[in-house]
Amino acid sequence: MGKTLEAMLALQAIERQLAEVRRHFNSSSAAVGVQQRRVDQLNERLQSLHEEVLAHQKEAGAVELELKSREDEVNKLRLSLNTTKTNKEYAAVLTQLNSLKADNSKLEDKALKLMQQTDQVRVQSDEVTKQIAEARQYLEHVKQTSAGEIARLEQMRADLEQKRKIAAESVPEKPLGIFNRIASTREGDVMARIGIIGKKPPFQYICGGCNMSITPEHANALRTRDEIRFCDCCGRILYLEKETSSQKA
Ligand SMILES: [Zn+2]
Repeated sequence: MGKTLEAMLALQAIERQLAEVRRHFNSSSAAVGVQQRRVDQLNERLQSLHEEVLAHQKEAGAVELELKSREDEVNKLRLSLNTTKTNKEYAAVLTQLNSLKADNSKLEDKALKLMQQTDQVRVQSDEVTKQIAEARQYLEHVKQTSAGEIARLEQMRADLEQKRKIAAESVPEKPLGIFNRIASTREGDVMARIGIIGKKPPFQYICGGCNMSITPEHANALRTRDEIRFCDCCGRILYLEKETSSQKA
């Protein structure tokens, strides 16, 4: 293998570890975010339950006020029953009184229902308050665990970046640019070993990255030249490991 490809392969080994550290780092940071969102959602739920209680209370207040004024009316009608002069008049007032009482009983039912609903919402609020306390406690736990993990990963990342810097010095500028470009789009997965299939020529060649077959031209060129060749299918940089004598075409 040529010097440049060899240096790139060393860089690849570090780059893969870096990508792994980045993945762990992201999932550790994400864990805190996920739990924080759960706490936020529960708080929003509690707030909306609180608003529901207030709305029920307001409505119940209005119903009670209406009931009160209607009861006053009932009392007035009762008194006027005593002052009616004719049977017809009496019957008319009595009908009015009964219909008013029926309406009032509907209003009382409504008031009762509103109170029951308020109680139900309060029970839900208590439950959500409990869930918030639990979720907050768990959030603290996740934060602490993640903090330790994140510190450890940051140290690993710093060490690997230092190693990467040293390894990159052995790769010429142009190939290094290509390497970095692929590394950034493929999460550090830049190079692919050429796999050789068959015991004697003609061999078949596959890309070790995507497992698709590649032309013998790539392998033939890499046997003698230190150059950058890409898999036609996945775009990884191809390399050929030292072959046994039987594999030489
Ligand atoms: Zn490929």
